[in-house]
Amino acid sequence: MESCLAVERELDRVLAKFNGLRNHSNEAVEELIHSLQSICNELQSGQDITSTQSAILVQTVKRVRDAVQRVSTEHKELHGSVSKVGKSVDRNFISDFTAVTPDTFENAKNNNLLNEVICEHFLRQGMLDIAESLTQDARLEVDSSRKEPFLELHRILEALKQRDLDPALEWACMNRDILIAQRSSLEFKLHRLRFIELIKEGTRRQKEALSYSRNFAMFGSQHARELQVLMGSLLYLPQGIENSPYISLLEPMYWEEICDVFTRDACALMGLSVESPLSVGIRAGCKALPPLLSIKQVMQQRQVASVWSSKDELPVEIELGKEYHYHSIFACPILRQQSNENNPPMRLVCGHVISKDALNKLSSGNKVKCPYCPVEQISTEAIQIYF
Ligand SMILES: [Zn+2]
Repeated sequence: MESCLAVERELDRVLAKFNGLRNHSNEAVEELIHSLQSICNELQSGQDITSTQSAILVQTVKRVRDAVQRVSTEHKELHGSVSKVGKSVDRNFISDFTAVTPDTFENAKNNNLLNEVICEHFLRQGMLDIAESLTQDARLEVDSSRKEPFLELHRILEALKQRDLDPALEWACMNRDILIAQRSSLEFKLHRLRFIELIKEGTRRQKEALSYSRNFAMFGSQHARELQVLMGSLLYLPQGIENSPYISLLEPMYWEEICDVFTRDACALMGLSVESPLSVGIRAGCKALPPLLSIKQVMQQRQVASVWSSKDELPVEIELGKEYHYHSIFACPILRQQSNENNPPMRLVCGHVISKDALNKLSSGNKVKCPYCPVEQISTEAIQIYF
């Protein structure tokens, strides 16, 4: 905020100077035009130019030249003030983030990975043409098998937004087994929407609605309560659902919900996160950068910048809030350290879990005694655990 105010002060200075200059030159120009005009009139009315008139003319021309010179000098000075604003922006806002970001993207491999993540983001958002251009420009090799799921996802989502249930129903039917294993309620909710569309029409489509209700047979146990509501609504077809206690069935919320349910279940089925990793990364970065930059500054001021040498580790804990919690963290109960790629959690044969470093420390030869139970076992039989 302070930085914004500092730049604003500089900007105010330029504006004040500019306004002063504009008023001043406007006045000068008008005055000059006025005197030239009167000379012009005088010359037109008279026959010959008298020596006085000639002297006045010479003088006026000189004044015009001086005025032009002055405006141009003042204009040059204004340039200086304008460039000061630019410098103030540079001074007050940090544009160099290399201090807090390791040179991760300098090497070609990581750069390529970054481009792939960006490309996947565009595919996720349905911006297929941009993804295509990026693939070509960055010479990415995006396998068509990676693109297709996104294309399908978007085709179905677009249809749902247009209130067309067919593609989604077809997809849900095709993936029924996996969806059931995921405890998904997508298929039921799709059928429910179609049913609501039918009963909305009143008795006109009563027969159709009744026969469609057979689709609910398989959801009897899981969605008994919702089915009761749907069946109960049939009683009110003659007077119209909108005039019945079931009016809430007509709320647009069901259509909004179905897009979310579909996206979530389809992403889970494809092994993708619901949110784009790129947008999550950027949002988290925006939150984490200010504290990191200020700690870097403090470290530099106290000349302890070298303390933060490990670029894989942050110098301070950054709390991003609950929405950014994705994975459980394992802390080794023996070494009291958080596990990481080099020191992953290991499950011992007895079922107790300790970190790899702890396992190595406790092992003597090929044997290890569990620090908890304490069962003697062969250390190589411990299995790495993935969260
Ligand atoms: Zn044990």
